Amino acid sequence: MATILPGNTLPVEGSFEPADWRASLRAAYRSSTDLCDFLGVDPKVACPQAESDFPILAPREFVQRMEPGNPRDPLLLQVVSQSAELVDSGELDPVGELPAERHKGLLQKYDHRVLLILSGACAIHCRYCFRRNFPYDEAAKGRAEWQEWLELLRCDSTIEEVVFSGGDPLSVGDDRLSWFIQQVAEISHIRRLRFHTRLPVVIPSRVTSEFTKLLESVEQAVYVVLHINHAQELDESVWAAIRRLHRAGTQVLNQAVLLRGINDNFEALRELCVQLADRQVLPYYLHQLDPVRGGMHFGVPDVEAIELVAALRADLPGYAVPRLVRELRGEASKTLIR
Ligand code: SF4
Repeated sequence: MATILPGNTLPVEGSFEPADWRASLRAAYRSSTDLCDFLGVDPKVACPQAESDFPILAPREFVQRMEPGNPRDPLLLQVVSQSAELVDSGELDPVGELPAERHKGLLQKYDHRVLLILSGACAIHCRYCFRRNFPYDEAAKGRAEWQEWLELLRCDSTIEEVVFSGGDPLSVGDDRLSWFIQQVAEISHIRRLRFHTRLPVVIPSRVTSEFTKLLESVEQAVYVVLHINHAQELDESVWAAIRRLHRAGTQVLNQAVLLRGINDNFEALRELCVQLADRQVLPYYLHQLDPVRGGMHFGVPDVEAIELVAALRADLPGYAVPRLVRELRGEASKTLIR
């Protein structure tokens, strides 16, 4: 477990909503030098040149779970820039999202489901992110554009499920979010709402009572899909946020990405799956890395990935074993890797 360093300016959240999540976001680390200084790690592990297009962003709540002095810490490696990012391989749009855009910021890759890029902002910048080069500036940003989405959703009765994504959809404030979600929830053919978010993990106070009341108020089934790659990301504040989501009646799932040097071993994956299953969070997907430019060094060969998941399957109940998948451009669903 990470040790909490003395001198942190923000308290670790151990109880209910002690902090304003926006203040946490403002206080996040935005410089690898500051981050490394704080952790007592040689700043040479970082590559500032790789940060010009994709800056460092790491909230203090997340950084406090890192192990001081460890340059190979699995949480640090997710956020610190590396010279390997400058290697010119991988794709800008690795899973073919731009051709799937039906309207500015509204993507439809699969039947009956649409994905909305509700915001280009995240609370953390994951160096392996498949959308690290996504043209967020061109995505919809405000009520006027959201109205256009609503019009499209109302007119297409084949759409059963709306996925709120980003960036991170919870980077939108509760007022604007409530307005929009309520509008979507009033569309009678929408049966399920889904949030893809990392904010409850990296800044747990984002799961505010306003947000949980909103979730409780909608008629549709609500799924919250978290993104946690390593058990060290979990602490009491995260569990408290997950409890709030559960109490609001949502189904909470997790998707992880298989990442070289971070969770590419049986012990790390087992611990993550077990901790999630203990708290009724289903480990839904383990994704093979999308071949994104700047993130290729995180990749793990399929043969290794298959062995790891086979070992989990032999050791854990079926519901605690994630499906190993890859997203392939133009396919009608995620592709299961056997
Ligand atoms: S939180 Fe999700 S969308 Fe944001 S940088 Fe991380 S992986 Fe990408």
